[in-house]
Amino acid sequence: MIKMPLNDIISKIKEKAGLSEEDINSKIDAKMKQLSGLISKEGAAHIIANELGVKLFEQVSGKLEIKNILAGMRSVETVGKATAVYDIREFSTDKGSGKVGSFMLGDETGSIRVVCWGGMTDSMKDMKEGDVVKIQGGYVKENQNRKEVHLNDKSRVILNPPGESVGKVKKVTSVRKKISELRENDSNAEILGTIVQVFEPRFFEICPKCNKRARPDGEKFACSEHGEVIPNYGCVINCNIDDGTENIRAVFFRQQAERLLGKTSEEMLKYKDDPAAFEAVKNDLLGTIVKLVGKVNKNDMFERMDFIANLVFLNPDPGEEIKNLEGESSKSSGETAEQATSGAAAQDKPAEEQQAEEKPAESPAKTPEQTEPQPPQQREEPSPQQETTTQTAPK
Ligand SMILES: [Zn+2]
Repeated sequence: MIKMPLNDIISKIKEKAGLSEEDINSKIDAKMKQLSGLISKEGAAHIIANELGVKLFEQVSGKLEIKNILAGMRSVETVGKATAVYDIREFSTDKGSGKVGSFMLGDETGSIRVVCWGGMTDSMKDMKEGDVVKIQGGYVKENQNRKEVHLNDKSRVILNPPGESVGKVKKVTSVRKKISELRENDSNAEILGTIVQVFEPRFFEICPKCNKRARPDGEKFACSEHGEVIPNYGCVINCNIDDGTENIRAVFFRQQAERLLGKTSEEMLKYKDDPAAFEAVKNDLLGTIVKLVGKVNKNDMFERMDFIANLVFLNPDPGEEIKNLEGESSKSSGETAEQATSGAAAQDKPAEEQQAEEKPAESPAKTPEQTEPQPPQQREEPSPQQETTTQTAPK
C-alpha cells in the first residue's frame, strides 16, 4: 500500500476541501473515536479524505518530483542531482554476499536517499556530487521514518542524461521553536536550551553487518536477518533540556550521542563497562547550552513528548542566536542540515512520522546517519521508553 504521511494527507484535504487544519484534525479525532481507536490517525485521515471526495494521490506514471514519491510506490522514475555519494559496502550473510551503496538525490522539491543493491552499485562508481541522475524502476521503502528509493538489477540509473536538468535543490531548513511550542510529530524543529539533567547512557546490541538491532537469543545475540552474530553496541543518551518556556526530554542516539559528548564510538563504549566514569561527563554537560534539530515523538508510556535529536550543536554562536531571536519568530536559522554536517549526508526531513502511533511498542526513536553511510535495512533502536529514569550510577 502506498503510504502518505499524515501531514501530507491533512494538507491535501486542506487544499482540496478548503477546511482548516483544526477542522480536519477534529474530524480525524471524531473518526478515531467512532471506530473505538481501532484505527491509526493516518487511517482515519484516509477515511476523512475519502468521505470528502479528496483524491490523495494522482495516478503514478512517468517522472515524479521527489516530494511526490511515497512509500510503497513501485516503478518509480525521477531525476535529481546527486548531493552526496556514499561508499559502496560489501556484506556477507548466511545466504551469500552482496553489495550495497547509497546516494542522496535532490530536486527543487526535496531530497531522498537512493539505495543501490548488487550490480546497481556499479552505476555509482562514476557518480559525483552535482551529477544529474535519472533513476527508473525504483521501489520506495520506508526506513527510520524516511523514504528511500531502492534499486535492484531491474532498475536503471542514468548519469547526466542528455536533455535533463535540475534546478536548485531544495535545502532542508529547520524551524526554530520554543519548547512550549513543540507539538507531536513536529519534524525539523530547532530548539535552543540548557541541559538541566543528564541520564546514564544505555547500550544496545546491534548486528555488525547491518546495524539492525540484535536480540538476545539464549546466551547469544541474533539479527533477524543475519542470524547469530557477535554484536556491536550502539548508545543512547537522554537529557532534559530547558529553554525557559518548558523542558523536554531529548534523546540522542549513536552519532548524536557521540556529538553531544565529543567522543568516538570506541570512547563511548568505556561507559558501558564503567558507568561511574560517566559522572565527570555528566557534570560537564549540565548547564551546557545546546541547539538541537530534530523531531518530536509522543512517548506513549510516559504520556510525554520526546525530542529526538538529529543534529546537535554544542555552545552555539551567541551572536547568531540573538540574530535569530530578533528575526521573525519561528523562522529558520538558515542553517541547513547539509551545512551543519559539513557536507556529510544531508537528510531530508523525516517524511512519515506515523509509525510511532502504529507501533508504540517499538517507538521509532531513530537517528539518521549524518556522517557515515550505513546499509539501508530497517534498523531498530530501543525505545527511549525503556530507559531507567534514575540519575545515579548503578552499583
Ligand atoms: Zn544483520
